[in-house]
Amino acid sequence: MQIQKNYPLKALNSFGVSISADLFTKLVSTSDVDQLIQWRKDNPDTSCLLIGGGSNMLFRDDFSGLAVSVALSGRALTSEDDDAYYISAAAGENWHEFVRWTIDQGYAGLENLSLIPGTVGAAPMQNIGAYGVELGDRLERLSAVDLITGERRVFSNEDCEFAYRDSFFKRQPADSWLIESVTFRLAKQPEWVVAYAGVDAALDGQEPSARLISDVIIALRQSKLPDPKVIGNAGSFFKNPIMGTAEWEALKVLFPNLPGYPQKDGSDTVKTSAGWLIDQCEWKAFRDKDAGIYEKHALVLVNHGEASGAEIWALAERVIGSVSSKFGIVLEAEPRVIA
Ligand SMILES: Cc1cc2nc3c(=O)[nH]c(=O)nc-3n(C[C@H](O)[C@H](O)[C@H](O)COP(=O)(O)OP(=O)(O)OC[C@H]3O[C@@H](n4cnc5c(N)ncnc54)[C@H](O)[C@@H]3O)c2cc1C
Repeated sequence: MQIQKNYPLKALNSFGVSISADLFTKLVSTSDVDQLIQWRKDNPDTSCLLIGGGSNMLFRDDFSGLAVSVALSGRALTSEDDDAYYISAAAGENWHEFVRWTIDQGYAGLENLSLIPGTVGAAPMQNIGAYGVELGDRLERLSAVDLITGERRVFSNEDCEFAYRDSFFKRQPADSWLIESVTFRLAKQPEWVVAYAGVDAALDGQEPSARLISDVIIALRQSKLPDPKVIGNAGSFFKNPIMGTAEWEALKVLFPNLPGYPQKDGSDTVKTSAGWLIDQCEWKAFRDKDAGIYEKHALVLVNHGEASGAEIWALAERVIGSVSSKFGIVLEAEPRVIA
């Protein structure tokens, strides 16, 4: 494990914010992970930050600690039974390339999660989800190591405690668990999820397949979301708020067009649309110097070029304030905000 000083992180965060880390290292092997555990024991006062693709982070300032790029690689079919294939991938594998690889190998199940930026290892953190499927619907187990104690543990799907953009790992002290690899259970008789956000219409009567659904979803995403390589962003910047059904019904009286999706977990709650709330406050396409709101999607904060993390965060706070004043709902940021 080699440590570099004053390392620029612009290429390692999808907002493209120009910041640097005091110290930087890249993990490419289990031996590197073991050395990191020892390094943390030797340097208990230096904070440590795990980075996959940096597509769910906003750096408000330079990072004064050790930034750790998780670049463990490898993917393979590990076993199969009558009903499913079990496919494992190391944490540093690029998520979308992994999804397309599974499709190329003839395994279905991850197609709805096509084109989500980032790495395999970060995907369980916030239980990534899109077009009616969440990671937790397909994950069999994962291997993680406690970076404080060095304990290695296999987590079952249940152990991960997946919820909407949430997991066991997100609720632990930041950077305490390093996810090393993830194993997926991909059914041999897949059930296509197509009745969602324009997928069915785009299929236009064609027989679904993993590749076709993936292609359709890639096209839909490209038409709606900015490519971080062109305009810096972290996808949806705010979580969709979940509230009690009675509270939602009371708001609906005041705002008859308020969207609502009753939650299926028996909790008597309704999820509403953060994008709709922000749109009602007329933020779409707003720009303050290089920090802005994407013109096609009110939920996406963008860096038009040279915005600092502090400027992007200041804009996020203005959005939170106006939604709170109008609707009494306090939006929560989805990406991890650092420093
Ligand atoms: C254009 C765009 C579209 C997006 N669309 C979606 C979407 O549809 N659905 C969705 O859910 N998300 C979406 N996202 C968010 C993002 O892609 C996901 O959250 C993704 O999983 C982040 O992966 P990453 O490797 O970039 O994580 P990072 O941003 O590097 O890290 C995210 C968090 O995970 C931690 N972490 C990273 N690697 C590990 C590891 N190996 N072990 C433990 N902790 C780790 C980090 O410390 C951090 O807390 C989108 C982002 C962009 C830019």
